[in-house]
Amino acid sequence: MLLPALASPSDRTALRFPDRELTYRELADEARAVAHGLVGRRRVAVWARPDARTCVAVAGALLAGAAVVPLNPRIGERELAHILSDSAPDLVIDDELPAGEPVELPEPDGEAPALVVYTSGTTGPPKGVVLPRRALASNLDALAAAWEWTADDVVVHGLPLFHVHGLVVGVLGPLRRGGTVRHLGSFSVAAAAEALDEGGTVVFGVPTMYHRIAAAPEHAAAFGRARLLVSGSAALPATVHERIERLTGQRVVERYGMTETLMNTSVRASGDRRPGTVGLPLDGVEVRVVAEPGEIGEVEVRGPNLFLEYLNRPDATREAFRDGWFRTGDLAVLEPDGYLRIVGRRATDLIKSGGYKIGAGEIENALLEHPAVAEVAVVGEPDDDLGERIVAWVVPSGEPAPEGELSDHVARLLAPHKRPRVVRYVEALPRNEMGKVLKRELR
Ligand code: ATP
Ligand code: MG
Repeated sequence: MLLPALASPSDRTALRFPDRELTYRELADEARAVAHGLVGRRRVAVWARPDARTCVAVAGALLAGAAVVPLNPRIGERELAHILSDSAPDLVIDDELPAGEPVELPEPDGEAPALVVYTSGTTGPPKGVVLPRRALASNLDALAAAWEWTADDVVVHGLPLFHVHGLVVGVLGPLRRGGTVRHLGSFSVAAAAEALDEGGTVVFGVPTMYHRIAAAPEHAAAFGRARLLVSGSAALPATVHERIERLTGQRVVERYGMTETLMNTSVRASGDRRPGTVGLPLDGVEVRVVAEPGEIGEVEVRGPNLFLEYLNRPDATREAFRDGWFRTGDLAVLEPDGYLRIVGRRATDLIKSGGYKIGAGEIENALLEHPAVAEVAVVGEPDDDLGERIVAWVVPSGEPAPEGELSDHVARLLAPHKRPRVVRYVEALPRNEMGKVLKRELR
């Protein structure tokens, strides 16, 4: 059973949004009413606004055995048309939740699709990822073990609900544990701090949020009291990790996952929280890096956390696997003690310059150590001489550094061939809702 707390409901708080709070009993009643209206449907799309209604609709669909397609409420027309024609839902749930006469609810098996989530589209058009119920259940239990996550935890949540981070980890996670989701509606450092002051125990965030938390010393005490600060969806710069620690006394726990696999690795709550690493494989998940020891290679994953297929894309599904291992497209180094360090993506972050293979992430981290750099994205651009030249797009933290200084800094810290040939200043980097840098747009 995916959400056992809905079968024996209590008066504990399940969901708390700015405008609405539901106990498990209320959530179970509302979700069951929705489920009665959905029994027999195969797939339903849900406008995934960050509100209690979305959570009720998703829980109801799962109780009915239907797969949910969460829709980004701010999606553009073209992408919406693509997702609706690709996923062909039986129904799109908006404000009006369906209801029906009480009927017996099915008990779908573990391979039944629970969600069809579209990838972020960071490297290409979004693909519909079909996630079975066993992937959700096994992954949420593995995360509970890694994070010592219990029914007493109140998750402070400020993320959208149409990706696996916000929906699976952030909502279904607490609901599977019988704990509480405290959703902020939209994230602000002040609102998160207030939620922590009012009993929040765990924060799930993306690096841009930790960036903002690190810049708000007036709220440091609240974050210092959290049981766990977790970051994922993109790399947490080591500089941000260190700044948060200096400010709050907390070391952020980083985890690594993706739509197709849910979460793969995490630093353990009781483990060594080293900046720049995403920790060890979760229970039941196998992770390998296809490379010589200590070298950069592609991360491949096997385990019960994996998706079933890309919807309507048998070729893409086939290409994504090698001997039963899912090829993540991410590049990493495996440290001697088994900790994984992500250095970027195969598609955008492996720069081939002057005969060298260089990871963009390493250069980005080095640049972030320079006081004149607030944010940075490094890409390779075609170059007649070098094959590709290293280009750094920099958001300055104040006055831009003198010409050549940032490149010299990288050459000194790393190696001369890792020196950016071009530094371009911008006011902001193009990012999606999860704070991921859209490198396609920079190239
Ligand atoms: P698309 O597949 O459409 O290009 P996407 O890969 O960004 O988009 P998601 O599935 O939402 O879509 O994101 C997963 C990716 O996010 C991972 O493959 C990885 O590159 C990145 N990621 C997630 N967590 C981390 C982390 N802790 N550190 C570095 N990168 C991370
Ligand atoms: Mg991807």
